[in-house]
Amino acid sequence: MTSQASAKRPLHHNYVDGRWMPARDGAVRAKTNPANGEFIGQFAHSGPADVEAAVAAAERARAAWARTSPAARAEFVRRAATLLMDRIEGVASDLTREEGKTLAEARVECRNAVAKLNYAAAEGLRLNGEILATAEEGLHLFTLREPLGVVAAISPWNFPLSTPASKVGIALVCGNTVVMKPATATPLSSVHFMQTFADAGLPAGVLNLVTGSGGTVGGALVGDARVRGVSFTGSTAIGIDIGRRAAGNLAKVQLELGGKNPLVVMEDADLDAAARAAVDGAFLSCGQKCTATSRVIVHRDVKAGLTKRILEKTAAIRVGDGLDPTSYMGPVVDEGQAESVCSYIDIGRREGAHLLIGGERLRTGALARGYFVSPAVFDEVGPGMRIAREEIFGPVMSILTADSFEHALEVANDCAYGLSSAIYTRSLRYAHEFARGIQAGVVKVNGQTPGNAVNAPFGGRKQSGVNICLKAVDFYTELKAVYQRFA
Ligand code: NAP
Repeated sequence: MTSQASAKRPLHHNYVDGRWMPARDGAVRAKTNPANGEFIGQFAHSGPADVEAAVAAAERARAAWARTSPAARAEFVRRAATLLMDRIEGVASDLTREEGKTLAEARVECRNAVAKLNYAAAEGLRLNGEILATAEEGLHLFTLREPLGVVAAISPWNFPLSTPASKVGIALVCGNTVVMKPATATPLSSVHFMQTFADAGLPAGVLNLVTGSGGTVGGALVGDARVRGVSFTGSTAIGIDIGRRAAGNLAKVQLELGGKNPLVVMEDADLDAAARAAVDGAFLSCGQKCTATSRVIVHRDVKAGLTKRILEKTAAIRVGDGLDPTSYMGPVVDEGQAESVCSYIDIGRREGAHLLIGGERLRTGALARGYFVSPAVFDEVGPGMRIAREEIFGPVMSILTADSFEHALEVANDCAYGLSSAIYTRSLRYAHEFARGIQAGVVKVNGQTPGNAVNAPFGGRKQSGVNICLKAVDFYTELKAVYQRFA
């Protein structure tokens, strides 16, 4: 188990080569609860030597793991999924304590992580190559699907369990060894995640965990020529930089990046359902989802009715500690994020948008020691305003107006990002044309922008990402062509 310096000051190490071990220089970093400042634990604050040890362990384990049958590899992943499910209550509550989302949402994330691991395990029996046609008599031409080798899995803080699950499960089943680098803000969920694999009996070196800062740990991982694949989920600016550096080693790169997701509401929409989707899409998880609804683009004829409904629902939102079952929305993840969200509220006001509700730091009573911001709704937002173009990653919704379906689609596409999108309508024509015309990787018709099925491709267009495959095995493997003649 993770070492415990004392029950009150838990100390969490890296997991390298099958053992929990401190950072080489003993450095640690404290983590606190964003809802109330509660001390959560100290975590290894690693340096380049720790990354070196983890990559070296993964490299040593690589050949034997690649030779292990896919079905046997999948069995470890399935076992870890079962353990995670058994531990769901403890893991979900720690996820809430470190990230801030409500316990109900943390449980959903845990179940989602389990589903992703089980889905990955099932791929163990589907790692097929192909037999190719050939013009030559006696030639047997076929492809073998092979692992990349050592893979780096770099995750953000907003889904600290399900993001690693979507990377690690399939990477291992495909025969890769992995070094995980979680976000500094959410190391505890990764410690739980790592522990399930350790308890599942995974061989030493196959999966390693190194905690520490992005620039140092992430930078060293991406720069290591032994790392043959990098799966990164995070912000666009850092993703672009990682893509450049990984290209220097000709490593394969998968980038899942930011979003500025539109929800279009047409004149024929069910306004109650659309308002519910807008509010839940914008404010659950405190708006800290890459797929959160940040732009509501509504047809002028129904704007008053939709806005009224959105305001009623927003006013009813209860903000509080995520462990309190009556809370709908917890804190944002840290002080920097709270300041960033509030600065966008100021920017929106200065740009001339009309703040209808919320957008305040909540600092009284039980909320005094946390990073709480009330959910904000801006009206009269123009498509050129920064609050309509930049990812805020917090509880801020912008309402924009459109005069027609074509205008709504044009506004929705007038953005650098292209991750998720949604339309509320009863028209088959609008639904169909929106699905075809929107520049986004995910489209919902009469559904909210967040949420995706484990067996569907998930990834963005434009500045929202690259190299998201229909089947994840296509990223985590490469094909070898074999020309075989009988002597
Ligand atoms: P971030 O600042 O880009 O960090 C993501 C991860 O990269 C963290 O583990 C971070 O470590 C690490 N990192 C930072 N600098 C690095 C560097 N120079 N080299 C290598 N790694 C580095 O993003 P975040 O603030 O954690 O997460 C929010 C962002 O993620 C939003 O933009 C959101 O839209 C995006 N996101 C996208 C998806 C998707 O599927 N498209 C899903 C979830 C989130 P530290 O934490 O130590 O800085």
